[in-house]
Amino acid sequence: MTRKISFAIPAYEEAPNISMLLGKLVNVLKGEKYLYEIIIVDDGSQDSTWQTILEEAKKNPNVIGLRLARNFGHQSALIAALSHASGDAVISLDADLQHPPEAVPSLLRAWEEGYPVVQTQRVDNSGTGLFKKITSKYFYKLFSYFANVKLTKGSSDFRLLDRSALQALLEMENAFLRGSVEWLGYNSKTIKFDVGKRYKGHSKYTLKRMLQFAYKAMISHSTKPLRLGIWVGTFTSLFAFIQLVYVFYQYWFGYVVPGWASTIGIMSFLFGILFVMIGIIGVYLAEIHEKLLNRPNFIVAEETTTFYEKNNKNKP
Ligand code: UDP
Ligand code: MG
Repeated sequence: MTRKISFAIPAYEEAPNISMLLGKLVNVLKGEKYLYEIIIVDDGSQDSTWQTILEEAKKNPNVIGLRLARNFGHQSALIAALSHASGDAVISLDADLQHPPEAVPSLLRAWEEGYPVVQTQRVDNSGTGLFKKITSKYFYKLFSYFANVKLTKGSSDFRLLDRSALQALLEMENAFLRGSVEWLGYNSKTIKFDVGKRYKGHSKYTLKRMLQFAYKAMISHSTKPLRLGIWVGTFTSLFAFIQLVYVFYQYWFGYVVPGWASTIGIMSFLFGILFVMIGIIGVYLAEIHEKLLNRPNFIVAEETTTFYEKNNKNKP
């Protein structure tokens, strides 16, 4: 039986990129022996992304579009696409052509060799700004330290997952797919690719979004920050104890300890640490709270398939 490959593509305001991407992808797939489906998720775009997807779905029955009720963010949109994939393997990639469709055959070859997970690694070149290069490098280092899963620098959401790995992934909590895929521990191969400039439009990752993404990723994979307080507390109390011994010693010999400023300095320093620690606990609490609310990762408002049924328009 001919096997099927699913493509999972999150798209937020990518109207000018979609047709180009699909054209290239379909072209690459012509040389392959697989059936395919391309799932594009419109993550609450304000531009004509959804109209473009509808048109493409009309032209090509292998294109399936989902429109989310609002903007849920890159990771949730990707999870929406992955959850709808019915293929024997699924390849996720960005809509802006930064993940080149030309690299798809090498992912497929690795899968055919028997790898259930095929990762990719960005070789940063002119397509990546200096700021992104630096923040990304340190994020991967920090994440690997805290989360006990090793993330290679430059790993991205451009990857192939075998059905088995996909199922395992969808069963777990997924705030940060890159970390979760590593955590699963499947045998994997990594393929390098040149990241290009995005074709049209601009990156949706503002500094604020990047920071949110980084902290969500971190706390969904690590409880180390929670325990940080114990160490900071131990060291600061040890320091305070030594200081106290010194104060009593001085007092014993009749000296009055001067230094109001230094006392206040140390106090505010310690209070600062204390509040940071409370903040860290708060961040985890918020996360637990959100889990208790039991909200889904995404809400699908519309699908291309039902759209065409409803409007009595026959898909060719
Ligand atoms: N994206 C999304 N929802 C968002 C932000 C981004 O679905 O809220 C998609 C976007 O359309 C693209 C991918 O996620 O296909 C990566 O986003 P982007 O290119 O802006 O990020 P960068 O490449 O700069 O990291
Ligand atoms: Mg991009």
